[in-house]
Amino acid sequence: MNKILLHICCGPCSTVAIERLKGSLEIAGFFYNPNIYPEEEYELRLENAKKVCEMNNVPFILPTYEQEKWEKTVKGYEDAEEGGERCKRCITMRLRETAERAKNEGFNFFGTTITVGPKKPSEKIAIYGAKIEEKIGIPFYHCDLKKKGGIQRSIDLSKEFGLYRQNYCGCRYSLSRCQI
Ligand code: SF4
Repeated sequence: MNKILLHICCGPCSTVAIERLKGSLEIAGFFYNPNIYPEEEYELRLENAKKVCEMNNVPFILPTYEQEKWEKTVKGYEDAEEGGERCKRCITMRLRETAERAKNEGFNFFGTTITVGPKKPSEKIAIYGAKIEEKIGIPFYHCDLKKKGGIQRSIDLSKEFGLYRQNYCGCRYSLSRCQI
């Protein structure tokens, strides 16, 4: 079976992603999310993502929480709208790290759970993934996890497993907007 290194953004999104991919791919989870703010929130999402992987017997890889590197990546675009240039840089950074790790460790594909997110158009993620695929030299496994009721399925599974579901995307900028 082909192996995928799956970038996991949070527990809820990973529920439906793992459910849909595990029949055809051998999955390892990769929690690279230096965008998440504050650190307590990072720890909470990490704990929930790990729980989902453990329940599914999926190996879980935890790289360093590189907050400063993330801040530099989005510098100058702090005020951009959600879905704009800041998000492009943020998602590309996380996918690139996943692709590099996947290539170095002999995976066949890299992918992400981000397409479950209602505000994350899968067409954009596909473009980011394709660019990284070309640059790093490992195929991006594009899958629109919102399709066929993916969002609702992730909500249902999260309730069933008692997972924490956040109400903002992750960075300090999305948090401040959510509190307005
Ligand atoms: S809103 Fe989400 S995708 Fe956009 S920069 Fe913030 S954490 Fe990243």
